[in-house]
Amino acid sequence: MKESLTCYSLKKLEEIVSHFGEPSFRAKQIFDAIKKGKQIDEISNISKSLKEKLKEKYVSIPVEIYKKLVSKDGTIKYALKLQDGEIIECVVLSYSYGRTICISTQVGCRMGCAFCASGLNGLVRNLTCDEMVGEILIVNKDLADGNSREITNIVLMGSGEPLDNYENVTKFLRTISSKESLNISQRNISLSTCGLVPKIKQLADEGFSVTLTISLHAPTDEKRKQIMKIANSYTISEVVDASKYYFNKTGRRVVFEYSMIENFNDSFVDAENLSKLVGGFPSHINLIPLNSVKEKGLIGTPKKKIYAFREKLENLKVSASIRRSLGADIEGACGQLRNKLLKNTSQN
Ligand code: SAH
Repeated sequence: MKESLTCYSLKKLEEIVSHFGEPSFRAKQIFDAIKKGKQIDEISNISKSLKEKLKEKYVSIPVEIYKKLVSKDGTIKYALKLQDGEIIECVVLSYSYGRTICISTQVGCRMGCAFCASGLNGLVRNLTCDEMVGEILIVNKDLADGNSREITNIVLMGSGEPLDNYENVTKFLRTISSKESLNISQRNISLSTCGLVPKIKQLADEGFSVTLTISLHAPTDEKRKQIMKIANSYTISEVVDASKYYFNKTGRRVVFEYSMIENFNDSFVDAENLSKLVGGFPSHINLIPLNSVKEKGLIGTPKKKIYAFREKLENLKVSASIRRSLGADIEGACGQLRNKLLKNTSQN
């Protein structure tokens, strides 16, 4: 695999161009072009010979668009190809205030949640910081030809468990929120985790201020263990304590994701148990209709019952909302990203 220039500082690029005997202002031209999502061949203001020299050793962005699907509701799903041929997916959701990109943090996932398609084939590998930044730059270029910033918000909710790839993900967070890069405020970034307790605390201790989103999905340990392997490592009360710790350090309200599974976690007793867990600190519950996984007998709760569940939570003074499910027709909705399968299908 070639070295990637995506996250190189201007200074580092200056060293590279001077090594090729070029004036240092070329480095700034390359730096600006990378921010606009350009591959080396697309950088119009540098000479052909410099491009050739650079391409021998480097790529500017280690990600390219492989397939693009647009949903009836405007949601766009991209399949992106990495240098080693692995395929990852990311999804762009359009709102009145801007566009949110949902990026992947790993190829596959080893958390093994029963309802999630990302982990069907286990973990293949971690994504590098450059690959995660690359997802955003390449998609931003496709949406706006790189001239304006189309992407306003980022959610780390694609394939993978971000806190299981801690070093690369935190490097990514620092990079993408820096002035030299896209300058996307950490307040506009959500990191979703199934609850790796020590890593949540580390994130807080290291001064990050992203919105922490916890995939809870069950109101008791007994139920959570039935659908999430991670529940065998950390109890719900440990996860909630880590969330409080994060809130106390960052002042950021924590969001709990609760995918609703018919006749499993959608009764009023479940709502009562849930309300007891999350009280006492600023948090919010996102109710998501489960995208059914019929093979496993896991069916999404019908809309009417979800509304009743939310009302019950509101009566219990718990802040909750129902997440719209976008992009279902292009398999771009929550938990539907199955990159390995996509790769296999396309090769057959
Ligand atoms: N590993 C991280 C990031 C994945 S984010 C995490 O667990 O949070 C994807 C979100 O979609 C998670 O909240 C996940 O639990 C949820 N999800 C997975 N499969 C789903 C499905 N079939 N229906 C609804 N939500 C699902």
